[in-house]
Amino acid sequence: MKSFAQKFGCKVFDQRVMKERLPKETYKSLKASMDHGRSLDPEIASIVASAMKDWAVENGATHFTHWFQPMTGITAGKHDSFLSPQGDGSIILEFSGKELIKGEPDASSFPNGGLRNTFEARGYTIWDCSSPAFIKEGTLYIPTAFCSYTGEALDTKTPLLRSMEVVNTQALRVLKLFGNHTSTRVIPTVGAEQEYFLVDRKNYEDRLDLKICGRTLFGAKPPKGQEMDDHYCGRIRLRIADYMRQLDDQLWQYGINSKTKHNEVAPAQHEMAPVFDSANVATDHNQLTMELMRSVAKQNGLACLLHEKPFEHINGSGKHNNWSLSTDDGINLLDPGKTPYENMQFLIFLCAVIRSIDKYPELLRLTAASPGNDHRLGANEAPPAIISIFLGEHLTATLQHIADGVAEEKSSNGVLNTKVTILPNLPKDDSDRNRTSPFAFTGNKFEFRMVGSSASIASSNWVLNTIMAESLETFADILESTDDFDRDVRLIVHETMYHHGKVIFNGNGYSEKWVEEAERRGLPNISNSVDAAKAFIMDKSIELFQRYGIFTPKECESRYEIMLENYIKTISIEANTMLEMTKRQILPAAIKYVGDISASYNEVTSSGVENKAMLKLVNQLSSMIDCVHDIMEILEQEVNAAHTNDLWQTAVNYRDKVIPQMESLRNCVDAMETITSSEYWPMPTYTDLLYRV
Ligand code: ADP
Ligand code: MG
Repeated sequence: MKSFAQKFGCKVFDQRVMKERLPKETYKSLKASMDHGRSLDPEIASIVASAMKDWAVENGATHFTHWFQPMTGITAGKHDSFLSPQGDGSIILEFSGKELIKGEPDASSFPNGGLRNTFEARGYTIWDCSSPAFIKEGTLYIPTAFCSYTGEALDTKTPLLRSMEVVNTQALRVLKLFGNHTSTRVIPTVGAEQEYFLVDRKNYEDRLDLKICGRTLFGAKPPKGQEMDDHYCGRIRLRIADYMRQLDDQLWQYGINSKTKHNEVAPAQHEMAPVFDSANVATDHNQLTMELMRSVAKQNGLACLLHEKPFEHINGSGKHNNWSLSTDDGINLLDPGKTPYENMQFLIFLCAVIRSIDKYPELLRLTAASPGNDHRLGANEAPPAIISIFLGEHLTATLQHIADGVAEEKSSNGVLNTKVTILPNLPKDDSDRNRTSPFAFTGNKFEFRMVGSSASIASSNWVLNTIMAESLETFADILESTDDFDRDVRLIVHETMYHHGKVIFNGNGYSEKWVEEAERRGLPNISNSVDAAKAFIMDKSIELFQRYGIFTPKECESRYEIMLENYIKTISIEANTMLEMTKRQILPAAIKYVGDISASYNEVTSSGVENKAMLKLVNQLSSMIDCVHDIMEILEQEVNAAHTNDLWQTAVNYRDKVIPQMESLRNCVDAMETITSSEYWPMPTYTDLLYRV
């Protein structure tokens, strides 16, 4: 049997396989395209395609697919076989360079916002050779970007790739100014920690809300939630451990560096963290990870919930997007080194981050906005909806000293003296003290903690890359034309702290006081995804995206529309699921129960015994049934009235009119659940879901 190390990446057409199977010159040319984003010679593509097909067929593949990431949040692709009939009954297996480079799926069936009128139904998928192809269930998957006939981006990957280019260009300019002439490329690196829930498949199948919406729309508070703090990093149950082992085995075969696994805070909640990779590979890997999490769960009689808030009363799930910039020769540009005060290059990159986040908080917030995440942000389990940066006291003080032009005291604060001679003195990392910040410096990278668990990480990263490009360009412009480099570097630090320092916050992000303080500082607090969507059509966003070629104004408008459409559809499906469950499961069950108690009561009474409790229960349940029925009717009216000809108004109606009724209905049903016999209750309860895994 092969060890896991031998199996690692066995399903991937990675550089090892390329080197082995491609002629030397072809490999060199492909590698140059991969590393430097150069377009590939069509002749080279034919040789690569042929080698890829041979490898895929030897490894059991019969089909290939252009794998892409439309704006549905999940991945897509149609599968074509390699088969080519010869007319005499025989076949040969074919895969041309053209088929590798370009595909033509029908674009009209994917979300495209207002763009749908401006392009033919045809869309193109274009090979992203910097993310490796792989085999899954008998198909060769080729990672691609998805564009319209006229070149407009229809996916999450195209803007990501575009943003990686622009940040590379501007970061290289800054590096040169600091005397680095050896690095030839700057690559955003990303590590996405992924939270998820596992529940028993049978329970999942028995809940319409989980099946249709991915979250429970009803469910009374269980007697035990997460109050004992006994789940986080606790012992992993055997069935879950087995699942994690199988998941790792799969992830490793796909070359995904799954590194850490543990139980999370809520019961039935877990986490997986991979080793970081370049932003586009990390994005592809995260999509694949979510798919594998679901399929391995199904094979094991479990269901994996990736929704941001599957359960009320306990924590929801997020994704931590760890982000940094690295050179092709391995220098992490956000690594402060031992003496940050002297490491001015690091401080310039750090200032670029501070300036970017303070200038475009709405855009970063936008990338964490979804109907699911609306339940989570600011709910004392995830960062508030206010974007701020945690730097730690030490780093903040260093910047402030430079900004104020005073020499830094050589405090021992910056060094963690282990007092053990065998251990080196480490720069003190005070970042771990704060887990409540949405955007925290964690030693040599930033951790964006707002992202929802089911979201693609692409948008967070194209925003980070693009806003960084803008700040780095501004700094490079200043420093390229300076007559006093050191003075202007300090001036940049000064200006950054003076104009953008307000975004730095090292305190408790979960506290009420911070909400007030943030308001005083003028930081936006965007509490829901309808308002968040507006960031796409703010003048400064449109200008930024246009300037760096990430989106045209039309593309911005279309993405805004897609977000609102998605919001409307999601809430509408949830409301309709609630109505169906109420009408066809919950009310019939409660009516039957109250009928049966009434019959029992009549029996008891006719035998001459008087029982007050039974009568009380009948009364209580009857009035709850009335209440549920009344709210259900109001909810139905609100859903019917929500749709208007105006997309924005419709979204607002769902947010302000439909959701409050959904909440009322839930409250009433949950109260009824607590006094209804478990024999009659028509679905598994929270205790069943969270503790019977
Ligand atoms: P913690 O568990 O405290 O959040 P870790 O050091 O375990 O911190 O890192 C969490 C994630 O950050 C991992 O996915 C890791 O690979 C990623 N990471 C580490 N360094 C970088 C980097 N330079 N760029 C991007 N991600 C990184
Ligand atoms: Mg983390």
